[in-house]
Amino acid sequence: MGRTSAEAATNIQTPLLDLKAQYSSIRDEVLAAVEEVLESQRCIGGPKVAELEEQIAAASNCKFALGVSSGTDAILNCLMGLGIGPGDEVITTPFTFFATAGGIVRLGARPVFVDIDPATYNIDPAGVEEAVTGRTKAILPVHLFGQMAEMDAIMAVAERHNLAVIEDAAQAITGTYKGRKAGSIGTAGCFSFFPSKNLGCAGDGGMIVTNDERFYSRIKAMRNHGAEPKYYHKLIGGNFRLDAIQAAILLVKLPHLDGWAEARRRNAAFYDEKFKDTPVRTPVVNPDCRSVYNQYVVGVADRNGLVTHLRENGVGCEIYYPLPLHLQECFSYLDYGTGDLPACERAAGEVLAIPVYPELTEQMREYVVATILGFYA
Ligand SMILES: *Cc1c(COP(=O)(O)O)cnc(C)c1O
Repeated sequence: MGRTSAEAATNIQTPLLDLKAQYSSIRDEVLAAVEEVLESQRCIGGPKVAELEEQIAAASNCKFALGVSSGTDAILNCLMGLGIGPGDEVITTPFTFFATAGGIVRLGARPVFVDIDPATYNIDPAGVEEAVTGRTKAILPVHLFGQMAEMDAIMAVAERHNLAVIEDAAQAITGTYKGRKAGSIGTAGCFSFFPSKNLGCAGDGGMIVTNDERFYSRIKAMRNHGAEPKYYHKLIGGNFRLDAIQAAILLVKLPHLDGWAEARRRNAAFYDEKFKDTPVRTPVVNPDCRSVYNQYVVGVADRNGLVTHLRENGVGCEIYYPLPLHLQECFSYLDYGTGDLPACERAAGEVLAIPVYPELTEQMREYVVATILGFYA
């Protein structure tokens, strides 16, 4: 359409994420797994959910895992399991997806936002210590973009003040900190199987991992309205159950997860090298961490201009996250203002996620780099 063949050849459509590429590589197994569940008509819980729980527990070096309805419900179920409620405070990061803080406020508790480390975008442990009050019940760190937060320092604060720690590991399944798996360090860890996560299902799903047996039995009962046994309720929970079809699909995908993470790291290393000594600031990797790169997020000047340029040239990108949680309209009652958490506010103005998904081709990666560097040339 008016485009010369030379231009067409250089324009390589590169979405931020291409789930069809992944699906086409495992299609037959997925269809067979779904059919098996449908034939059994065991659609809630059952052997697929139990097997997935066992395998995710093992992959996370945790004793227990509990399949739940989403990452959002994983967080909510954990906070309910801790008995968080009105008058309580939970310390968390303002630079995350809404669900991190959503669970806190839904229980009537107060999220206390602490600024981030500008290098890693994860919560700053020094700020966590300063934010502790007599009402603090828990710390809710997020392992953003696939890289774990500074867990030693966070756990030290938690131990000094006798606080629970719930790891929001929605973006970091199998990521490590000093060789320890995401979700295995705090009281519990929360995963999301939203399709865009490293391990995604065909809808919504999530998982909680923990090494604490008493906590596990509480959240397990709460997953199903606190019923134990059926129709007898000692606790108030919700419907936080995971569908068997989702578990079956995830069981097909799980054996590929490490390979996919490796491919993401290869793509990240490629970008790291190509963007060296350019105006593009590459992600800072904490030497204690092995990131699983749910997102590859660069820091850039004139971000709006770059976004337009990328869209015009067929390169997918996304801003995670444009408005920090402490400045969200629904949290105006918390009385935060612009300037309160400057590192986070600065990050919100400069971050941009570019394609890093495992099936990216060499040509696509080259094209992404050339398109970005072309903008700054
Ligand atoms: C995706 C995500 C969640 C929520 O997971 P859902 O499965 O979409 O409910 C929570 N926290 C973070 C950091 C996430 O990225």
